[in-house]
Amino acid sequence: MIQTDACIVGAGPAGVATALRLSYLGIPCVLADRAAFPRDKVCGDAISSKVTTLLNRLDPAILQRFNATPIQSDVWGIKFVAPNQKELSIPFSPNYIRDAKAAPGYVSRRVDFDHFLINEARRRDNIQLLLETDIQHYERSARGWLTESRDGRVQVDARMLIVADGAHSSFSRKVAGLEKDPRHHAAAVRAYFSNVGQIGQGSFIELHFIRRATPGYFWIFPLPNGMANVGLGMRSDILSRKKFNLREQLFEIIEQEPGLKERFRHANLVSEVKGYGLPLGSKARPVSGAHYMLAGDAAHLVDPLTGEGIGNAFYSGFIAAEQLQQCLVSNDFSASFMKAYDQRINRVLGSEMRLSYSLQKMLMYPVLVNALAHLISSNRKVLEVLSGMYTDFSLREQLARPFFWFKMLFKR
Ligand SMILES: Cc1cc2nc3c(=O)[nH]c(=O)nc-3n(C[C@H](O)[C@H](O)[C@H](O)COP(=O)(O)OP(=O)(O)OC[C@H]3O[C@@H](n4cnc5c(N)ncnc54)[C@H](O)[C@@H]3O)c2cc1C
Repeated sequence: MIQTDACIVGAGPAGVATALRLSYLGIPCVLADRAAFPRDKVCGDAISSKVTTLLNRLDPAILQRFNATPIQSDVWGIKFVAPNQKELSIPFSPNYIRDAKAAPGYVSRRVDFDHFLINEARRRDNIQLLLETDIQHYERSARGWLTESRDGRVQVDARMLIVADGAHSSFSRKVAGLEKDPRHHAAAVRAYFSNVGQIGQGSFIELHFIRRATPGYFWIFPLPNGMANVGLGMRSDILSRKKFNLREQLFEIIEQEPGLKERFRHANLVSEVKGYGLPLGSKARPVSGAHYMLAGDAAHLVDPLTGEGIGNAFYSGFIAAEQLQQCLVSNDFSASFMKAYDQRINRVLGSEMRLSYSLQKMLMYPVLVNALAHLISSNRKVLEVLSGMYTDFSLREQLARPFFWFKMLFKR
């Protein structure tokens, strides 16, 4: 029986971010995962500046070690392709010049990136890492929560439980009551290809809004060694309504879609096509209770527009660690004290989620997407502001304001 202040279940990005932040705050923790690493996770593998910003804030040496490994390709911007094929390329910084500085984003296969993160956890003396430990039983104890592995080998009695076991978290569903809501949930498939034509030009990732896949999107994210992560995702309620088969559509798109079929003519599929769920953050949900917090996908924090979840997993992990520090100082783990965690999650991620949800609804109308792509690409000022927003989070809030669009698009 291990007794600890903090037991983190799940050592994906949310769990490792929590553990690392706790470690740097001087708070020991137990970090358990059912997998043996390296392990795969179905994902688009795009790592945004949220992740690099937070890792850098924790310890610049981590990012230096990451940059020194050959497991990532740099990302300097996004190329959007509208349903009418119009392309809109937005660099991540307005006057971007590819220089020796670290890139603002990356693409790195999760099998590699998550292994890198686990090795960072291994470097810290005050993180007790328990791999191949499938936590299945939870019950309240006098201290907080008693958890036990499926085989009964491991028992952890913790004052705080941080649940970071991903989109299929049983604790999140059964104890915290976060049911899957198909209107706030997406599904996506991912495959690895080699030899895709014209990939990674200018180190941009590509999002294609294709009429037949409306309101979802198809992506091509360039990886090292000429590989690419290629995938397709859509909101779950619309998938069922349209009886849309993501796997079949992925192949139809690459075989038939103008602008793509040529690029895939000599491409080779080098993996299985795998699918997984994305619990979207478009609906505010309770993410804490007495002696526990949910983080990452277990807290339903995936961006409803882009499907980006790693950055928000990191943010929630950092906030969870800082909340635990407050609980220890105040010796208060009550549900009412824990509300501060929910409030901070909402403050940090809420406005972005609301904006993404509004834009996601707009994708239902290809004509609108075409028109917006045209308006933005023909307006240099808007392009510059949108570029700045990628790294300047406060600027992003302006996007949610109709007046901003009016000012940008119509006032010369
Ligand atoms: C197809 C697809 C494409 C995506 N593309 C992107 C993208 O390009 N960029 C991006 O930022 N996000 C993307 N996402 C979302 C991203 O994958 C998730 O948001 C992110 O992985 C969440 O991290 P997490 O740590 O919360 O959960 P996970 O990464 O799922 O980690 C959960 C961990 O918990 C462990 N675990 C599960 N059950 C137990 C248990 N019982 N006991 C112990 N351990 C357990 C698992 O082994 C795993 O290691 C995509 C998702 C999908 C499905």
